Amino acid sequence: MNSKAILHIDGDAFFASCEVAKNPALRGKPVIVGKERGMATALTYEAKAMGIKRGMTIYEIKKICPQAIILPSDYETYSLYSKRMFSIVRRYTPAVEEYSIDECFAELTGLRRSLRMTYEDMAERIKYDLDKELGMTFSVGLAPTKVLAKLGSKWKKPSGLTIIHTDMIPRFLDSTPIGKIWGIGPQTESFLLAHGIKTALQFIEKPEWWINEKLTKPHKEIWKELRGESVFSLSTEEKNDYQSISKTKTFTPPSRERDFVFSELSKNIENACIKARRHGLVSKEISFFLKTQDFKHFGLEIKLSRNTNIPKEILDIVRNNFDEVYSKGVLYRSTGVVLSKLASGECSQPDLFGGTLQADAMKKVYLQIDKMDEKYGKHTIFLGSSFLAMNNPAHKNERGEKVQRVQFLLKGETGRRHIGIPMLGEVS
Ligand SMILES: [Mg+2]
Repeated sequence: MNSKAILHIDGDAFFASCEVAKNPALRGKPVIVGKERGMATALTYEAKAMGIKRGMTIYEIKKICPQAIILPSDYETYSLYSKRMFSIVRRYTPAVEEYSIDECFAELTGLRRSLRMTYEDMAERIKYDLDKELGMTFSVGLAPTKVLAKLGSKWKKPSGLTIIHTDMIPRFLDSTPIGKIWGIGPQTESFLLAHGIKTALQFIEKPEWWINEKLTKPHKEIWKELRGESVFSLSTEEKNDYQSISKTKTFTPPSRERDFVFSELSKNIENACIKARRHGLVSKEISFFLKTQDFKHFGLEIKLSRNTNIPKEILDIVRNNFDEVYSKGVLYRSTGVVLSKLASGECSQPDLFGGTLQADAMKKVYLQIDKMDEKYGKHTIFLGSSFLAMNNPAHKNERGEKVQRVQFLLKGETGRRHIGIPMLGEVS
């Protein structure tokens, strides 16, 4: 096969599946997302089987399925799963187009030799990794073009893997209504229907002169793609959405106490790390901030010398830099931390200072802590004790972290006296 090999991957009932992956006790149950809007915006296949449909109101849902579990949307979680989905696919190929939160295209062309697999095997392996590591299913289409790959992923849902070889195209298109093709809108559909074209096969059987005469360029391109000739390339630049996890909390009454403010920050760091570990993410950059009683933000952004999701590692660095941000006598009302440059994966690369052993030990400790938390509830084992024990100031920036001074500006605060760069719009 000389033609291209393009994969389209689509998460099945993605938002609802994320809820189930996050909370395995929900598995097998009719789960519905959209509580905050009063209607179903996403639902598990179990919910669909009960006759629930998207757009139904909570009242209607309760009537036909009293045991339905209705949850508010948690977009932060969905985007973390999305991020992990894309990074799993990128293990196989750098050419990944993040098409939407739960869909991507991936180009496999030319990778058979280096991966020592057929394209079919790659598709199968990628699907296997996604299903297994994210705890939900994906539907996959493998074809010589994007339009055909997208048709493939829709072919069998949920959890399908549909391969469309060039010689199989007519069979697939014969049973596909023209309006179901990606990129054919209702107007084009009725135009084609008016010309007796009901199926995608009838469409590609039209001669090129007819297409040229009757249709515009984008539709001609779809015609080519459906015939197996790849026209649409992938836009593979990684979406720079400043993927981050942030934790912030306001305390009352406000406080001048250095130790208290620090411990508040510590708690936020722990919470952010719990979340990162739960999603299998590590952070390459952190920032922390203190907000004063008169709503000024002071913070630091720190590039880490290695990826981590271990609170002690982050706390050591924050502790060493805390006094650059904290001012004696000032009244504070909240603290916060942001873990950014998140990536799917493991902590710690070996470093020059022998820190790896310790990091590995911490990783094991936290694996146990996370297990306990899962069993007995969050913060069963809380750093409160461990962090007092950790009060062992190391040398400033000994790991060579680059510290960058940043003053945070929040939305609507531009009129204030702050100097600095508005780095993060949504830290509060
Ligand atoms: Mg989907």
